[in-house]
Amino acid sequence: MYDCIIIGSGFAGAVAADIMAREKGKKVLVLEQRSHIGGNCYDKKDEHGILIHQYGPHIFHTFDREVYEYLSRYTDWLDYSHEVLGYIDGQYLPVPFNLNTLHMVYQEDKAGELEEKLIAAYGEGTKVPILKLRENEDSDIRDIAEFVYQNIFLKYTMKQWGKKPEEIDPAVTGRVPVLISHDNRYFTDTYQGMPKDGYTPMFEKMLSHPQIEVRTGVDAMSVLRFDDYQIYFDNQKFEGPVIYTGAIDELFGCRYGRLPYRGLDFRFEYYEQEEYQPKAVVNYTVSEDYTRITEFKKLTGQTADGTTIVKEYPYAYTGEQGQIPYYAINDPENQALYDEYNKLARNYGNLWLLGRLAEYKYYNIDAIVKRALELVRTIR
Ligand code: UDP
Repeated sequence: MYDCIIIGSGFAGAVAADIMAREKGKKVLVLEQRSHIGGNCYDKKDEHGILIHQYGPHIFHTFDREVYEYLSRYTDWLDYSHEVLGYIDGQYLPVPFNLNTLHMVYQEDKAGELEEKLIAAYGEGTKVPILKLRENEDSDIRDIAEFVYQNIFLKYTMKQWGKKPEEIDPAVTGRVPVLISHDNRYFTDTYQGMPKDGYTPMFEKMLSHPQIEVRTGVDAMSVLRFDDYQIYFDNQKFEGPVIYTGAIDELFGCRYGRLPYRGLDFRFEYYEQEEYQPKAVVNYTVSEDYTRITEFKKLTGQTADGTTIVKEYPYAYTGEQGQIPYYAINDPENQALYDEYNKLARNYGNLWLLGRLAEYKYYNIDAIVKRALELVRTIR
């Protein structure tokens, strides 16, 4: 009845389903555990009519024209350049730390001198990871690095990961490098934007092919069985491709132990006022228990009298009912555990792992779209 089964309907699953059906003419079944499609990019109107991202802010940005054009089949875009402010001792400062931030932190003369030093050391327009900046030989530059480390990275990273910046994968803090430029944008990608009508309508279109059937509210394990390196669907051997985008440890009953993830608690608040904060996202980098506040109207361009915000509280995911794993914690020990599961998965000739949870990786939207396009086009 089906040629292919896909578990999960976030970006990984939706792109996979689209390519399988539209390019390969396959009949596809998508199984989604939640009551809705779109994974963590799911958005909807709240009870006040404000379009919210149920699982935290998602901003599309890419340098990759193919990815941009692919998604543009399914949505128009609202031009949006993401800017973030750090709230530091009563002041809003542009994050990533850039030359504008420098001038807000130091006296004018000193700032001018430091700007010249930074440009001489790294070149105008470059990006320097904070952990690299801290190693500079010039004590003035190290002073800047210390300011950035203490005021932007240390507390935020402790909240987000429960560890210091130097204790986590450098690629993570490297996502937000110091910018040797006067550009306040959070991302410098060529293409940036929000789906004009929201993410959920885009996912609906991606999954609307007549050869795609989506079942929401279904635990894949209630219809699939993984046994003796064979996959069974409704108790019949299923030989077609199975693309799994969920947590890999849970696929195998966590038999080697749980892979650690960070989870997030989202607390939404509504205010009957025009605006709440100066930009869509404000990071609380030195105070508060939450990492950041997102004001949705400023992200989606919606106009409304009131405004809805969300505060994010990170925690260590334990797999308890109701928790959602958001971020893989990439370190050698966890990678070794992942490799065990991956080895097990490779015994199933028709099983493919795809996405943040299945591959235990930190994917941005564009990167997972790219990966899904590449992978699925190789599956016969
Ligand atoms: N980070 C930080 N302070 C900030 C912004 C980011 O310390 O104001 C660090 C933190 O460790 C975070 C990482 O940089 O987890 C990556 O930030 P990004 O904004 O890319 O995180 P995401 O949006 O994926 O949660």
